[in-house]
Amino acid sequence: MIKISGALGALSARRNDDLQSRRLADIILTPEDLAGKTSAARLLQTTLGGVVRHITNKDLDAFKRNAKALGSKMRTGLTAAEVIDLSRPADLERARKEIRSSIAARLHKGEMMFVTPSGPDSKVSRHFVSVVFPGFGGAVAHPGNALQAAAQLVKSPLKLDCDCEHWRYRLRYIVTAMGANAARPENGYPKLTNPQLVGVACKHVLRTMVELQGSLFVRKQIAKMIDADRSRLTPGAKTRVITVSRAEADKVSQGRVRTVRTTNEKYAASIRKAMPKASADTSTAAELASTIAALQKRSDITSTALLQALQAVMQQYPTGK
Ligand SMILES: [Zn+2]
Repeated sequence: MIKISGALGALSARRNDDLQSRRLADIILTPEDLAGKTSAARLLQTTLGGVVRHITNKDLDAFKRNAKALGSKMRTGLTAAEVIDLSRPADLERARKEIRSSIAARLHKGEMMFVTPSGPDSKVSRHFVSVVFPGFGGAVAHPGNALQAAAQLVKSPLKLDCDCEHWRYRLRYIVTAMGANAARPENGYPKLTNPQLVGVACKHVLRTMVELQGSLFVRKQIAKMIDADRSRLTPGAKTRVITVSRAEADKVSQGRVRTVRTTNEKYAASIRKAMPKASADTSTAAELASTIAALQKRSDITSTALLQALQAVMQQYPTGK
């Protein structure tokens, strides 16, 4: 069973260590370096191309292009579905195989803390994933009951953080540039660990996204947090912190394990379920899924109509496993 007690203290100690070591780091490729204001970048190293070597002018141009492309993806947070769809297949695979649970441990004023087990090669036994809901204030004010508001909130854009090294060294820069970081921002380009800027989430964040998408327990906890904030206006009341008890956490982590699935995989599953013959012929299901994905990228009237028709057909069938 994953231990959830003392999570807040443990997380703040890890964040403190992270901040201290970041302050001492002297091999950071800064935005000023990328803008070409200093030549210090040329003394640094990169793994672009597969081997460790000194950074050249050409690399700097490539980094600049990658960083600019990321800037064009800037938004206020990422939805759980976007996080899964934008992730690398390798990270999705790790989340499926190595991280079996993510427990909502603490909720307060639109911020949630999840505790996940760590992977097989980790130095620590658990990791902490933070999820901030930028739309929380709106959900509190939204007419309707708290559970309905919670159901909307789990589909809304999120800001994220994880205390693992994968997040820290490879992904935090990307997530910061996309406007989706929940904790310390990172503006140093990951020249050694992820020069191509691929991926968006670690296995712990991915597992957490699945819980947000599918868990009624999680929605109920979010509803409690909304209720707590709504009742704050009652004279004398304080905002309550919602914590999950050990017994509740054990019950949740013993529940069924949800699979991490991209939007395309979900479509393919529902197509297979809708058309039993297509399940024997997986290429048909895959073809339809990629058609839907292609249509989603287009905005002309015919494509939009086709997409809506296909989605309407899909919705008549429950999503398959
Ligand atoms: Zn992580």
